[in-house]
Amino acid sequence: MQVLFVGGAQGVGASCVAIEIAQRWIVVDGGVRVDRKSDPLPDLALLQDKAVQAIFVTHAHADHIGALPLLHQAFPLAPIFTSRATSLLMEVMLADAVKIMARRAVEEMELPLYPEHLISAMLMRVRTLPVGEDFHIGELPGVKIHASRAGHIAGAVSLGFEADNESIVVSGDISITPQRTVLGAVAPPVKRPDLLVLESTYGARLHPNRQAEELRLAQAVVEGLARGGPVLIPSFGLGRGQEIILILRAAQEKGQVPPFPIYVDGLVRRVCSTYMLLPEALPPQLQRQIRNGYAPFTGGEINFVRDERDRERIIAGPPACIVTSSGMLTGGPSAWYAARIAGRPEASIFITGYQDEEAPGRRLLDLAEKKASTLEVGGVTVTVNCQVAKYSLSAHADGSELAAYASSMQPKQVALVHGDDESRAALRTLLTNTSIILPANGELIEVRARGAVKARVAPQPVSVIPALPIGLHPEIPFTIDELETLWEVIRTQPDMRMVTARELAQVWYGMDPGEEQLKTVLQVLQEDWDQRYFVRQHALDEAFRVRGQALEDPGDVLQDLVGKVLLLHITRESSKPVLCRSVESGGWLRVTLPRGIRLERTRFPLSYIVEVLGPFEDTEAYSGQTPPQALMELIKAGRRVLRDISAYSLARACEEDATYTLGDLCALAGLAGQSLPERLAIAKLIDNHPQLFIQRYSVMDNEGLALYALSPDWKEALQIPEKRELPNQHEILLTIERAIGSPPQLYRRSVNPETGDVVLSFHFPAIAEQEYGDALNQAAEEAGVEISISPNAHQGALSTMARLALNEVGFEVRGAPSFYFEYQQMMVRAIVPSELREQKDDLLKQAQAWFEQRTGWTLSAELVVESPPLPITPSVVPEPAPTSGARTNMMNQTGVLNLAQVTLGSLPHCYKVGVDHTARTILVRFHFPEVAVQRYAEKIRQLELVTGWKVVIHPQVHQGALDDLARHIVAAYQGAVSKVSLFPTSKQVQAVLTTPMGKEQIARAQQQFLEESGWALTILAVNG
Ligand SMILES: [Zn+2]
Ligand SMILES: [Zn+2]
Repeated sequence: MQVLFVGGAQGVGASCVAIEIAQRWIVVDGGVRVDRKSDPLPDLALLQDKAVQAIFVTHAHADHIGALPLLHQAFPLAPIFTSRATSLLMEVMLADAVKIMARRAVEEMELPLYPEHLISAMLMRVRTLPVGEDFHIGELPGVKIHASRAGHIAGAVSLGFEADNESIVVSGDISITPQRTVLGAVAPPVKRPDLLVLESTYGARLHPNRQAEELRLAQAVVEGLARGGPVLIPSFGLGRGQEIILILRAAQEKGQVPPFPIYVDGLVRRVCSTYMLLPEALPPQLQRQIRNGYAPFTGGEINFVRDERDRERIIAGPPACIVTSSGMLTGGPSAWYAARIAGRPEASIFITGYQDEEAPGRRLLDLAEKKASTLEVGGVTVTVNCQVAKYSLSAHADGSELAAYASSMQPKQVALVHGDDESRAALRTLLTNTSIILPANGELIEVRARGAVKARVAPQPVSVIPALPIGLHPEIPFTIDELETLWEVIRTQPDMRMVTARELAQVWYGMDPGEEQLKTVLQVLQEDWDQRYFVRQHALDEAFRVRGQALEDPGDVLQDLVGKVLLLHITRESSKPVLCRSVESGGWLRVTLPRGIRLERTRFPLSYIVEVLGPFEDTEAYSGQTPPQALMELIKAGRRVLRDISAYSLARACEEDATYTLGDLCALAGLAGQSLPERLAIAKLIDNHPQLFIQRYSVMDNEGLALYALSPDWKEALQIPEKRELPNQHEILLTIERAIGSPPQLYRRSVNPETGDVVLSFHFPAIAEQEYGDALNQAAEEAGVEISISPNAHQGALSTMARLALNEVGFEVRGAPSFYFEYQQMMVRAIVPSELREQKDDLLKQAQAWFEQRTGWTLSAELVVESPPLPITPSVVPEPAPTSGARTNMMNQTGVLNLAQVTLGSLPHCYKVGVDHTARTILVRFHFPEVAVQRYAEKIRQLELVTGWKVVIHPQVHQGALDDLARHIVAAYQGAVSKVSLFPTSKQVQAVLTTPMGKEQIARAQQQFLEESGWALTILAVNG
């Protein structure tokens, strides 16, 4: 047996060991050094002439996985084995690494170590190994492998390899003391291994009592907060951060310290979410909590930080504790916070982990001792005035624990790695009855089995690692019809509670699916709105829970609800779409309600769920809106869909004894694709017709999948004619009256007798929208109709207001005003008494502000100063009449939005106008942006001039509109279309005809389509 220490032998970082066993080479770990002083990579050139058969990974810290993409590049065929938890955590950690590399590339001109695609190629090779049992792999015949829990962090393993006459154990990073997120290490059951490769991070240390240290930290946080400032705890994103959150939470729950808010930011936050996906790697108590739907890392006093605005708010707000990465203040949110609070004497920074020599965290500790002054952190130099302290919460075993771990195995030799000289030297003195090597990086050692070839007693039967079937049907394109086949295969795999889209692509297409194939898989999974087979996970992109897997339990279903839009009975009478934010202990949901729904509560019991509508991220049409706004829009869109569906026809389309998912019913109702509005419409339709449909299984009964059937009396119910009664206009108007009363500004109410939709005309629509918008939304919900405000202001009322405004400051209006509806602006001529000549501009500003506040319009005035009563003046030179120059500055956000809505919102194919007031930008969406940009360039320019704001057109073409336009135009030339397909890369739309068209008509239709959309239209005849 040979062992080559490729990296990480003499210190922490870039761990990588190559082993030749049973005449084959394998590699354990491929990490990077994070201190950035020296070469970050292990010397992979040492492996050049080795035919590496397989790669093993102990855990997902960067010093063990950061170089894996390059290792994969060197050995593209070698599979990578690791625990299930580590494989999921690797995705998160490497995505974070890519972000950091990209930032450094820009800010510090540092070359990234590898491109992003190499990471995804590497992840394609990852395969799951079982923890706690012996197994074989095909790549390493004759070698029994055992991965055992290493403590340290969730998913971490130690590895044992045993061949006929040689054996080796690689400890990886280990922790003997149980922690809150992982139990202590179990040594691999290899008796008297020829070599133990042992970590020695804290070989020279003796850890203080863990419990005492935890309590000391919690109490220090409370004292820090009592000083009136924030307490920052920089933490490693994976492992330490989660430990600290649970330590603080437990101290609060046990009453050891009073409750205080905890904010969780950065990588710590993302890893917390991922831990929810891997309960099997956590201690039994956490496992139980997660499986019962309780989220130990969120809820209660724990808050996740979303963006920089949150951060500003937190450090400016009441004292709070912040737990965030990076642990050494080398970057990430912790550096951001430290740069802002280190100068504040009432603030505290508590260091809890390993610090490199050069790290700002180490310097901070030095400062604390020497009372020196400045620290460079987050790109700035700050004078440190805050409290600094250190707490020892190591995830590594100390010297005596390492010695005990080693002696339990009785290894013939021990190689000490992953520690500095001092640690290794100290640990060496603690190990007895074995010979010790302190290898250098790059050193190759020959391990001879001393004594005779071991006579192995009857070998225990070992399981061969269950290989996922790879490449089931590479020749068949993957579609939604194949989803079940794929699921059947996956669900029989033990350990496959979670799968990634990448794994699914491998199972279907083969070992090396391309990006396109991966995309197809993701798309198909999205098309399955009912999520009958794989349930999308909120916490990790591309991760899916496998339905019906042996380990499925209620907690899984509960966690699946987070991030989804649910239809919920928010009161006895009313169900509304809401966004599920979290699931709390005791079976409660925390939700976001639609805008305009006023309720005191945001917490509801699980039993109030009517249906799971779909993931919220898919509400692309509403992007740029807050969740409450998007939910309100969803309600409106659902109502529009509902108008064209008949509950009776749907009931007739159903079969008597069958059960249906919501998705099935959408299809039966003739709704083409599925979307949130369509699913909402059908769910409401069913909810509104209990005489026709029943929910046979609720969401909670049936693993998150509600099932419907015809109600027992459906036939009788159908005898009563379907009430598609005309809306009761009087009722609707009463509802509006109840909502907003009868304001004098409201001068007309028009009700559409067919639909019941109402248009209200106010004197000043912009003001009315501000004042009554929410109440009207609510009334619309209640009445089940659309209520809109006519965008046109009332001319007479405007004139009156202008006159009042100017009279108020002593001016007098002359002649007829001019109205510029497009710009919501009016212009008058006003006479200024000569004694007001000096202050006339200020007075005008006053009048303008008064006017704008009441009307939402802007007022400009041509001022004419009255001639002073001079006795004789032969020629009076008239005062030049200045117009107000102040108006662009005065236009407020509402004014800009109104003006933009009037100017652009009414243009053909414009479907959304919004403003971003922080960027002073008007955001506009057109169905066909490219055409719009050209066609309306002049209007856009004018709008920018008048408002002083920038206009940005959203570049994405609206696919639904393309489809509509194609059908519309073809129909205009007497054709009929059966199918429309879009080809975005070539900007082409293809329409297949059911009724033939003449050549000339085709040409004209194509021309028109091109002009209107900027896309080419291909028209295919029915039979080719
Ligand atoms: Zn580690
Ligand atoms: Zn390590």
